[in-house]
Amino acid sequence: MQQYMSDKQRTIKKDVSLKGTGLHTGKDVKITFKPANENTGYTFRRTDIENQPEIKAIVDNVVGTSRSTVLQQNGASVATVEHVLSAIYGLGIDNLIIEIDGPETPILDGSSKIYVEKLIEAGIKEQNDNRKYFVVKNNISFTDSDTGTQITAYPAEELSLNVMIDYNSTVMGEQHASLVSLSEYQNEIAPCKTFVFLKELEVLLKNNQIKGGDLSNALVIVEKEFTQKEFDRIADLFHKDHQKYHGRGILNEQDMTFPNEPARHKLLDLLGDMALVGMRVKGKIFASKPGHFSNIQFVKKICKEVKKMQ
Ligand SMILES: [Zn+2]
Repeated sequence: MQQYMSDKQRTIKKDVSLKGTGLHTGKDVKITFKPANENTGYTFRRTDIENQPEIKAIVDNVVGTSRSTVLQQNGASVATVEHVLSAIYGLGIDNLIIEIDGPETPILDGSSKIYVEKLIEAGIKEQNDNRKYFVVKNNISFTDSDTGTQITAYPAEELSLNVMIDYNSTVMGEQHASLVSLSEYQNEIAPCKTFVFLKELEVLLKNNQIKGGDLSNALVIVEKEFTQKEFDRIADLFHKDHQKYHGRGILNEQDMTFPNEPARHKLLDLLGDMALVGMRVKGKIFASKPGHFSNIQFVKKICKEVKKMQ
């Protein structure tokens, strides 16, 4: 696509806002995207806190990776940053201010689609300075032998990502997803929703960890057989109307865009975490069983190489 041919930095043309609910906090929040100067990267700004503290979206500011990526700086934090950062990075935006009036980004439909639409509505603007790249020269790899996770960057002329997931699940087998060029991000990756196993959901609900969640913002994977009565009880936990139980599988299959949507969503998350490198990367990324913890360890390894160059 033509818009990706030039190597100038990019921001947006004008301010745009959207509203939604945080998945873990259940709090309503407003996000405003604002143009930012060259070489400033991505900056969150907590407008609900006195003096509006800023939180730079860089890996050094990551303080949490359990279920979502959390950033903290200047005494303020912002949680679940991966979907919004994925949208920004995926659209080729290099500099942006992200104002937010709460502690967590909105989950919206569980993908990065609405963020992408808003940013496109704002318009992408080319800036004067050239982009800076980290070019992978030697393989960079992170392995976690406990989980079987491995993420490796290989030398390549352009950024591409390949993801494999395998949850030993009876209803969702091994899945693969790839993105050969960021120009395909908007159509192939951005609409892919997050997913959750029903067995996990019950635990999360009981622990009060997903106040803003419902069946419209995640694909729900049902692995065991339920009775209709058990199924109704789960609907009650969600404050949802009872619906007919159809057996094991994806509960809300009608909301799926792609058969390998879960693997594509893991790629969406990985790209969002890679935005925390603070620089564009040229390399071929292969990730087996990625998750936020391993993504961040991998990004830290890249950043170590970046620092060696400087
Ligand atoms: Zn996600």
